[in-house]
Amino acid sequence: MIIFGTRGLNSKVESGHFHCPRCGRDKPFDIIRVRRFFTLYFIPLIPMGEAGRYLECKNCSGTFDEGARYLDPEVENEKFHAAFMQAMFRSMIVIALADGPANMQELDTIADIMTNMSGKAFETDDIRDMVQKCVGDSLDNTLHPVADGLSDDGRGMVIHGLHQVAAADGRLLDEEIKMLYSAGNILGFRKKAIKKFLSSVES
Ligand SMILES: [Zn+2]
Repeated sequence: MIIFGTRGLNSKVESGHFHCPRCGRDKPFDIIRVRRFFTLYFIPLIPMGEAGRYLECKNCSGTFDEGARYLDPEVENEKFHAAFMQAMFRSMIVIALADGPANMQELDTIADIMTNMSGKAFETDDIRDMVQKCVGDSLDNTLHPVADGLSDDGRGMVIHGLHQVAAADGRLLDEEIKMLYSAGNILGFRKKAIKKFLSSVES
């Protein structure tokens, strides 16, 4: 019996540097070409043309449209910064809601942090509006989109902010501690690092 078929083969055709939207900074890439081959006994014999090309970030392995190589770092940085502010805002609300409806101290703390970070005044009412929008949000869906692109300082800033909100009412509940660990995990911190942070702020 003769066994024949087709198969896609990937090969690197070009490399360079680009602004990876997922890493949030300049990273090396490969352009990968996918070609279809006619196979005989599973051995690719006759090229049947190109099936497509894509760009792969060599740092995070994220795959993008080939055009991603031309992304403007300045525009991308601005976009990332906006996404980071959203992630910070929403994740603080998620942790404020961990122990039931957000109380005044929690809302004020979030308003203070957002004001400090953005340089424009956030009022408690702005925060209340956001609380409505965040019903059903989780740390996972708020932090994941930016986790890969954050520097150590950025990741630390998130944990500090979340902790300030959780501790705003003067006590840290088990549920809140659990959420801080889970945020640390999403951001790529070791459990030990979060433990150390928590004991440093306790004393
Ligand atoms: Zn990347």
